[in-house]
Amino acid sequence: MSLTLPSDFTLRESTRKFIDSGPKQLLINGAWVPALDGQTFSTVNPANGEELAQVALAGVEDVARAVHAARAAFEMGPWSQMSGAERGEYLWRLADLIDQHADELAELETLDNGKPLRVSRRGDLPAASKHFRYYAGWASKLEGSTIPVSIPNQFVYTLREPAGVVALIIPWNFPLLMAAWKLAPALACGNTAILKPAEETPLTALRLGELVLEAGFPDGVINILTGPGEPTGAAMAANMGVDKVAFTGSTETGRKILRAAADSNLKKVSLELGGKSPNVIFADANIESAIKGANWAIFSTAGQECVAGSRLFIERPVYEQVLDGLRQQAERIRVGSGFTPKVHIGPIVSAAQLERVMGYIEGGREQADLVTGGQRLGGDLAEGYFIQPTIFAHQKDDLPLVKDEIFGPVAAVTAFDSMEELVARANSTAYGLAAGVWTQNLSKAHRFAQAVKAGTVWINGYGMFDAAAPFGGYKESGFGREMGKEALDLYTRVKSVWVSI
Ligand code: ADP
Repeated sequence: MSLTLPSDFTLRESTRKFIDSGPKQLLINGAWVPALDGQTFSTVNPANGEELAQVALAGVEDVARAVHAARAAFEMGPWSQMSGAERGEYLWRLADLIDQHADELAELETLDNGKPLRVSRRGDLPAASKHFRYYAGWASKLEGSTIPVSIPNQFVYTLREPAGVVALIIPWNFPLLMAAWKLAPALACGNTAILKPAEETPLTALRLGELVLEAGFPDGVINILTGPGEPTGAAMAANMGVDKVAFTGSTETGRKILRAAADSNLKKVSLELGGKSPNVIFADANIESAIKGANWAIFSTAGQECVAGSRLFIERPVYEQVLDGLRQQAERIRVGSGFTPKVHIGPIVSAAQLERVMGYIEGGREQADLVTGGQRLGGDLAEGYFIQPTIFAHQKDDLPLVKDEIFGPVAAVTAFDSMEELVARANSTAYGLAAGVWTQNLSKAHRFAQAVKAGTVWINGYGMFDAAAPFGGYKESGFGREMGKEALDLYTRVKSVWVSI
């Protein structure tokens, strides 16, 4: 495969070897296999539109094969009978292998997703291995409880058992990290898994599959299927042999998955969906750090983040000052290939997403005031999917630009006058994933944190995550909490055992 990269960047030997190793296959029952009907699709580099690899496209029958393998591994294999402590050792081994191959995995992530290499290497990669280590610890701590009941001579206890075969469907914005968010707790709890990366970014999940084999996981415990939402993802969600589906992606697809579960075997479902998160700057905030933080909250990852701080509320007395600061910051952001040193943000992930984001920008020009940005970048970036950081100022909350999740570098900025108005407007959205608030007044910060309908609130900061802190949505941002000990509920079932004594 010929790869066009910035002239001063050389890809590692191992990364190139993986790219050059031919069409990528499916991992089913511990072996790499092509799709039964031989279909493939291509994954491209969003920085220049070049094909990176041909990848197997799993059909309905491939999904059935993977479910069969995962079922056999769950019911008959050593995995679910193994002690939690031993399962934890496998997770720990996988974490070590991720760290050992972090440079290569980061390069693959940047090739496939576009994000700056520095971000892949220093952000996504260590977060992924930490996730496996965090849940390696939980594998040996899955406890039930004893229940005092009112009926005499009965001893009641609970067992926390794995859900069974779990389907893990993930998006393209943090490909390897999302795989870790889902695989680590699922495996710690003793489930067997079928992972489907997004069709835009399959490469790091596939390389992870090789590391899974190297770590010696029993066959069928981790299966990896590549392909688009239809047919691959849809077949996973509808499969009668899948006990649970965990999904991260758009609200629209979340609804389809819920319907597929309802129409098949009522499998357990958890959904981490879209967001349109409010980020609030009060007049008494440390304005300099609030501007920097708010700028990063929307523009890091080019806005391609479910928690992006895309709705900015600024208290009236500092509105002009903050808006001007945001504009200056946005204009200083360096957009370019993720392999160019000192680049802040990379491209939009695909041509389709680019078109969608530009559609919102074009519509926004007529409905709101364009403060800065608004253009697709040309010149030597013309082959890729690059958009300028874009800010709109508005006073109407029902504009598409303000209501819809754009998933691009587009901020909608508005002024507010009172806490009451702020809370009503911040909550006037179908979403409820995250929120930010910047103020030096403690009680204001906590009042807002309690009043906002969001699963995560950051005070005087934005976008922090840790494997130990639960994360998930309110309202149409989904349900179920990933990370922390809460994620154990997603991947286990509780059994009550009654003993007459
Ligand atoms: P986005 O719009 O951000 O690409 P999607 O929700 O479409 O988000 O995609 C997230 C993940 O869901 C991807 O892995 C995609 O292939 C998968 N997906 C898309 N449609 C379906 C579907 N109908 N059933 C199951 N998975 C799907």
